[in-house]
Amino acid sequence: MKNIIELQRELVQAARPSGFETPQAAILKELARPFADEITVDTLGNVICHKKGPGKRLMIAAHMDVIGFMVTFIDECGFLRFEPLGGHMPARLVGTPVRTESGVCGSIWADAEAKLAHAKLTDVDVHDLYIDIGAKSREEAERLAPVGSVCVYDAPVSAAAGGNLMTPYADDLIGCVTLLLAMEQMGESKNDVYFVFSVQEEVGCRGAVTAAWQIDPYMGISCDVCPTGDTPGEPEHQRMQVALGKGPAVKIKDGGMQSNPQTVAHLRRAAEAAGVVWQDEILLGGSTDARSMQVSRSGVLAGCVSIPCRNVHTPAELVNLRDVEQAARLLARAAMLEL
Ligand SMILES: [Zn+2]
Repeated sequence: MKNIIELQRELVQAARPSGFETPQAAILKELARPFADEITVDTLGNVICHKKGPGKRLMIAAHMDVIGFMVTFIDECGFLRFEPLGGHMPARLVGTPVRTESGVCGSIWADAEAKLAHAKLTDVDVHDLYIDIGAKSREEAERLAPVGSVCVYDAPVSAAAGGNLMTPYADDLIGCVTLLLAMEQMGESKNDVYFVFSVQEEVGCRGAVTAAWQIDPYMGISCDVCPTGDTPGEPEHQRMQVALGKGPAVKIKDGGMQSNPQTVAHLRRAAEAAGVVWQDEILLGGSTDARSMQVSRSGVLAGCVSIPCRNVHTPAELVNLRDVEQAARLLARAAMLEL
């Protein structure tokens, strides 16, 4: 298989936002094919890769949708207004290059830039922002990026210092890459394992709801990114303990879920068996597909393996390549360790 950077680049180039995942789904389906007994795509578009075993069902999910924007209005000069798809901090978006689903490039700017310069970051509203694609008129813009079309960050995937990777959409395309690596490494297992590339996580973990209902797993593990506490500025006592490059994180709790102790124990056992050094993760805000799995049907033992990630939900997310490799080793072992 290709290396981590090549896989991430291929996925980033195809990436579309929540609800529009068809291009990245097609790539993932092809890449996963050699490692699955059966691959199905459900009604919402979840790609479900089954590695059959006689034992209990295990679902391991990474979401393939990314955050983005949907065009809502085009003014007479050809500037686009938009709604966010997924969580964005509007003040951070000013100056961001984007591209539409048809490949038209543009960038995000703010009304009354001078006024915003004195506003608090939290005061900037997404409706103060517009996308400039360089169109000369409403007609031209409507042809290139009609209302209802979607845009994503247009940013490079680059090797950075320290064995790190700077990329848009580490969240969660790097989780999808991790799943592919884990599938490739996984040997024989008694567990009946389902690797799922899920849709619509960024708009409320929706794809995992229907996938978990269908699979009805005994245990559900998501693989997603988590923020780190190793950047300047935050008071020490408020920092997250997780740091970039110190290994994958086993989630204990986030803003929407407490991992079941049985799942945490299973993941720690897997890490020890695979010789993977892990970090403990407690994340105060946000959640993952594991939340949807946990409350599926009559309840599923749930947990999460996180890839530490700086600058989450920006075009310049930073992850460590060794953390990704180690997370894949951990997940492969978790899939093989009998439930
Ligand atoms: Zn995510």
